[in-house]
Amino acid sequence: MAYDPNNIFARILRKEIPARTVYEDDFVLAFHDIAPKAPIHVLVIPKSPYISIADFSATASSEELTGFWRAVSKIAEEQGLTHEGFRLISNSGPNSGQEVPHFHVHLFGGTFLGV
Ligand code: ADP
Repeated sequence: MAYDPNNIFARILRKEIPARTVYEDDFVLAFHDIAPKAPIHVLVIPKSPYISIADFSATASSEELTGFWRAVSKIAEEQGLTHEGFRLISNSGPNSGQEVPHFHVHLFGGTFLGV
């Protein structure tokens, strides 16, 4: 499957549609989910075009992989979640319900998230 350059996160990266950005660097953009499922629900995406975590893990450079995961932890800390805890989820493919075909990590926090 080829990357769809018109998926909604690609359009957010091109600033064609707005997003409530919480963090940005050379590798990563993070913004509030439009339909939050927790008091804090942030989406973290790489700036380069990867469809899923498998695609990202297999083809991103070491620098990009490191930059991405360091940014995820930094964002959790900046959101004040490090002490109380948080959850990361990345849906991949149809069985997961992945809606947007640009790799992203959901960061949830701000309440007890259940088990
Ligand atoms: P799911 O919708 O099943 O969680 P994904 O893992 O693909 O599937 O998540 C896509 C997420 O993107 C959803 O949580 C959705 O609310 C969010 N989303 C969709 N459009 C936007 C947007 N324009 N700005 C911010 N978040 C968005």
